[in-house]
Amino acid sequence: MMTMLLFKRTSSFANYAQRRAFQRTTATRSISTTITAASTCRSTAGPIDTETSDIKETTANTIDLFRPFFPIYYNDVYEVPLPPNHRFPMEKYRKVRERVQHAIQTQMSKHEKVQCDFTVSPLVTVEDLITTHCPNYVQRYLDGNQTKEEVRNVGFPWSTKSVDRSLSSTGGTVAAATSLCQVRREQNSFLLNSRNEDLHLNHENGDGNEMDECEFGQLFSAHLAGGTHHAFRDRGEGFCVFSDIAVAANVILRDYPDVVKNILIIDLDVHQGNGNAVLFQGREEVITFSMHCNANYFSDKQDSDLDIELPPGTTDETYMSTLHHWLNRVRKGDAGKVDFIFFQAGVDILEDDRLGRMSISSKGIARRNEMVFELAKDVKVPMCITMGGGYPKKDWEPILKAHAHVYIQAFEYMANH
Ligand SMILES: [Zn+2]
Repeated sequence: MMTMLLFKRTSSFANYAQRRAFQRTTATRSISTTITAASTCRSTAGPIDTETSDIKETTANTIDLFRPFFPIYYNDVYEVPLPPNHRFPMEKYRKVRERVQHAIQTQMSKHEKVQCDFTVSPLVTVEDLITTHCPNYVQRYLDGNQTKEEVRNVGFPWSTKSVDRSLSSTGGTVAAATSLCQVRREQNSFLLNSRNEDLHLNHENGDGNEMDECEFGQLFSAHLAGGTHHAFRDRGEGFCVFSDIAVAANVILRDYPDVVKNILIIDLDVHQGNGNAVLFQGREEVITFSMHCNANYFSDKQDSDLDIELPPGTTDETYMSTLHHWLNRVRKGDAGKVDFIFFQAGVDILEDDRLGRMSISSKGIARRNEMVFELAKDVKVPMCITMGGGYPKKDWEPILKAHAHVYIQAFEYMANH
């Protein structure tokens, strides 16, 4: 919440210029660790050769604390072949990444103030996974020792490649969230140093009036995957093995206690964020808000902190007025105390979605996204955006466009605000 900075014009500019940038440490695509020494689990994919693919990592290592920062992670290098006619649209991750990367890189010269880069999602470590998931479940999944029913509930055939994909789906969200926490920690430290300097100068000069006010850049990050909100502590369902958002939330609460004390999850996928609802029950520091269709549950409905149900066939007008009302309530209430937001930006509310059952237009989804961006900006907290659901009919275009637009719109929003 501490984004406003007061510093004196008389502060040394050289000092200021040096301190306004910091060297970022980026997560590596590490080989996953094991729970027990007896069993081993390695990444099957090995190092990613971005030179021979069309993907170019552009990770920035020096971040200016006063400009907007938008690190983007993607994991389509872990594409897993699925049986013919499988319901899961695996290729959408690559196709969305290609669109987002092309659109943003084309606009970067025009919007130089936004520091945006693209990095392959690292594999999550077991240590991070078990902040949220049962060690026994994690180990059985890594070893391929799940029951047939467990595999059926998730909906993916198990393979070593699918293990890497699941680990990167969570690892990318953890990396996206921690990237922002690193910057926020540096911003806080800059604030503290500047205030101490001001106190010192005020004392020396005997004046305290010549103060200037400036603001740090907005912090958004994104994972072009994740939003796997149907995973529970010891089981998965609905194409979700682990809950990336829950793991990332627990990791930043553990590793950045000076930066993050309270978290808000805004889940606007057409399906309820049932996994996160259960994972954070009784945890006051994480508020779960899910707005979803009331006739589209994979399994039993669960209790989020705030559940808003909408009927099948809901159109833009009802959706927007409902979301506006509840985001305002959140803004006046809980949002005042949160210092990190996760946005599950599923686009399966789209009228063209195969599984969604709602009737929201692409313009409506853009308006929805903007409302969430506005909330994050107004309460001045970092926000991590994840992909969530989106299931194409025969024509993939509307779903790809809606997914890609979430991220392109976030970039443009940061450039224009
Ligand atoms: Zn969904």
